[in-house]
Amino acid sequence: MTRILHRQIHAPLRTATGGRGVELFDQEGRAYIDASGGAAVSCLGHGHPDVIAALHAQADRLAYAHTSFFTSEPAEALAERLVTDAPADLDYVYFVSGGSEAVEAALKMARQYFVEIGQPGRSRIVARRQSYHGNTLGALAAGGNEWRRAQFRPLLIETHHIDPCYAYRYQRPGESEAEYGLRAAQALEDKLLELGPETVMAFVAEPVVGATAGAVPAATGYLRRVREICDRYGVLLILDEVMCGMGRTGTLHACEQDGVAPDLMPVAKGLGGGYQPIGATFLSGRIYDAFANGSGLFQHGHTYICHPMACAAALAVQEVIARENLLDNVKAMGRHLRRRLTERFGNHPHVGDIRGRGLFMGVELVEDRGSKAPFAPALKLNGRVKREAMERGLAVYPAGGTIDGVHGDHVLLAPPFIIDAATVDTIVERLGEALDAAIAQAA
Ligand code: PMP
Repeated sequence: MTRILHRQIHAPLRTATGGRGVELFDQEGRAYIDASGGAAVSCLGHGHPDVIAALHAQADRLAYAHTSFFTSEPAEALAERLVTDAPADLDYVYFVSGGSEAVEAALKMARQYFVEIGQPGRSRIVARRQSYHGNTLGALAAGGNEWRRAQFRPLLIETHHIDPCYAYRYQRPGESEAEYGLRAAQALEDKLLELGPETVMAFVAEPVVGATAGAVPAATGYLRRVREICDRYGVLLILDEVMCGMGRTGTLHACEQDGVAPDLMPVAKGLGGGYQPIGATFLSGRIYDAFANGSGLFQHGHTYICHPMACAAALAVQEVIARENLLDNVKAMGRHLRRRLTERFGNHPHVGDIRGRGLFMGVELVEDRGSKAPFAPALKLNGRVKREAMERGLAVYPAGGTIDGVHGDHVLLAPPFIIDAATVDTIVERLGEALDAAIAQAA
């Protein structure tokens, strides 16, 4: 009997009682490889001694002080570190408690920016179908996952969704990836012209789509063209790196690989690696200056912004990643994971696509490889894969989305950055068994 309103009321949960390195343990002492880091959260794995020591030290010194009165040392040190390594112009940062809050803050910064600079007519958001930006009302409005949005639609702010950049589904035969990237970006310009660009405040996109699509990277040149279009029409670019950011794809920020810097960039999961709830919104100097030279405030805030314990944990996590050169391991193990997935699933009759960047990889499951037809939603394949994997000591995130009104099944792999080759091999082996068992049940 539980008194918690769990996400899935009728699906009993095991109790996690411990974690060390890449493994989690339940109340019966069973071990699970944390192959998706929860939901791309646990970048350092579990129980890292340096992070634990930083948390103890901060708890001893100061757990909390309200930001109406004080700033704190860990918050200032973390901000300094983050902006030093951030893409061009992202010179300031705003600390919150998670990804949805970071996206909400970005949306409100965009709106307030246009009010401050005398363009109050800009309030619309353009975003993409097949995207997830969080579950609070603003972030949910921006996201394009219809299943999540449907019942809340009357509460959502005005957002216009264009096609995602999703080569497996939308690239045409004979079209190169670069041609496809430009064509996909054109949808943004078409939408801005349809709406009247002077009414739009921001375009929101994930550089590598996570929860709804299973690690789908933007096609070559797509984000660069999107940046040009935003600049041409004076629209702010928000790149949501909550899931794909903070090293997950092999560079600190995923957009670095596309040669693009956004105006606003929410990050979260890998920032604190799960040791504390923390998210952040990076903002450009231009936006900061508009606030500083205008009303002199950002009209927003939560009780726990800049939380000293959360900032101390994130600072320790980021220091370990830098000191141990873990992004090199993300790149090397990412290549190894891709190779192993391709060997195991490259000819699998029900695997349509293997994609991703770094240690952020997705496998798309299809009923039929030729037609790319997904499995029927009623089969609940995602849930079956998750259960079968857990039975085999593997925790993997079953991403799910809707493709043109049709449900799709994906598995998202996002193991801790500390993973080694032998553990990658075990993940792929167990995933193969779990997929085959789940598909056999569903057939
Ligand atoms: N944006 C993206 C891209 C995400 O993947 C998520 C979480 N899956 C969020 C926002 C929301 O983050 P949170 O669950 O921490 O609120």
